[in-house]
Amino acid sequence: MSKTNNEKTVTLNEGREKSLIRRHPWVFSKAVLKADDDIKKGETVRVVDSKNNFLCYGLYSPESQIRVRAISFDENVKIKEDLISSRIEDAIALRAHVISRGNDGVRLVSSEGDLLPGLIVDKYNEYLVISISSCGMERFFDTIVNTLKKLYPDCSIYERSDTKSRAKEGLKERKGVVFGKEPEDTIYVKEEGSVSIPVDIKNGHKTGAYLDQRLSRIRVGALSKGAEVLNCFSYTGGFGLWALKGGAKKIENVDVSELALNAAKTGVAFNHLDPGHCRFIKKDVFAYLREQVEKGVKYDLVVLDPPKFAESAANLKKACRGYQDINRLGLMLVKKGGHLLTFSCSGLVDPALFQKIVADAALDAHVDGRVVATLRQDEDHVVSLPCPETFYLKGLDVMVL
Ligand code: SAH
Repeated sequence: MSKTNNEKTVTLNEGREKSLIRRHPWVFSKAVLKADDDIKKGETVRVVDSKNNFLCYGLYSPESQIRVRAISFDENVKIKEDLISSRIEDAIALRAHVISRGNDGVRLVSSEGDLLPGLIVDKYNEYLVISISSCGMERFFDTIVNTLKKLYPDCSIYERSDTKSRAKEGLKERKGVVFGKEPEDTIYVKEEGSVSIPVDIKNGHKTGAYLDQRLSRIRVGALSKGAEVLNCFSYTGGFGLWALKGGAKKIENVDVSELALNAAKTGVAFNHLDPGHCRFIKKDVFAYLREQVEKGVKYDLVVLDPPKFAESAANLKKACRGYQDINRLGLMLVKKGGHLLTFSCSGLVDPALFQKIVADAALDAHVDGRVVATLRQDEDHVVSLPCPETFYLKGLDVMVL
């Protein structure tokens, strides 16, 4: 049997090849029967079944539960720098239609969605932000940077590899300028040629902004004419800015982060929107929702876009209770004929489970609702067909009857 890349071998237990045959890219540690000696952290390995049949090439993570991340199912492909470069180019080409909609903030590379496990690249105007979360991708750091420099010679590159998940890969957190100039504290990226969203590349969440919610922000704009809007977990106020642009009569942004709320305030001024219509409330959302229910306040539109409640299977039950709680309270605050836009970015909560949680919340709230739209991450956050985990952000637009 030929060894195209002269790589070390990882052999799976009998019967554990099924998901790779279906091209799901993760090999869990429990699936591994044996691995060659001295495989280096992040090295490319050849994965075979118990009868030594080739399954894939993958990146080896000796300390992670996801032991191998598949990078090619083609035995004849060489896992070299130019494969990574061409994957990056392919990923960028896939985003042309999102960019041409007038978006200056775009996810150019979306990890497993682009067959580049552990690599995120976002572009905010003339800044590229990279985030590496697997030790396999870490080995291609120079290739990634050189490819981006070649494709975007006028852009600066900043690294935000400061995610906690790097520890599981035996990697230290890292951030800073990789090439070019240091970003200003707040920059603004235009969405859909319309609203400018504040982004803090250096200290904001993730790479600076939640680009994945773009589609739903547009929807909020379209639903907001004359509306009273409550934007929970507002972060830098993206939904609120779109609501104001869409003609909202009143908007309340609620978040625990003062930094995020301050950025949200600057966003109102930057977009020349009327600050008189806005409130910025630094409070725990659970507490604020309860207060408003007690006061009997009602809104035309309530947005619930919480952080990931379900971090692991172990806390899934607790996470579901959290989702049910905020959705019950959120639904109680919506006027008849108004909308609740509710989301979950927990990969472990699939769309069917999420709908069940919201349905249970409606029962608890004694309200009747109708799903007028199912919502999802925008297309630059690519969903891999064989890897459903890449479809992580789901939402419902529920009209209260
Ligand atoms: N909707 C935002 C993204 C939300 S990210 C957008 O479109 O850009 C989640 C936000 O929830 C973060 O800003 C975080 O500070 C905030 N947060 C987390 N727990 C919270 C809580 N219990 N109460 C209020 N805000 C909270």
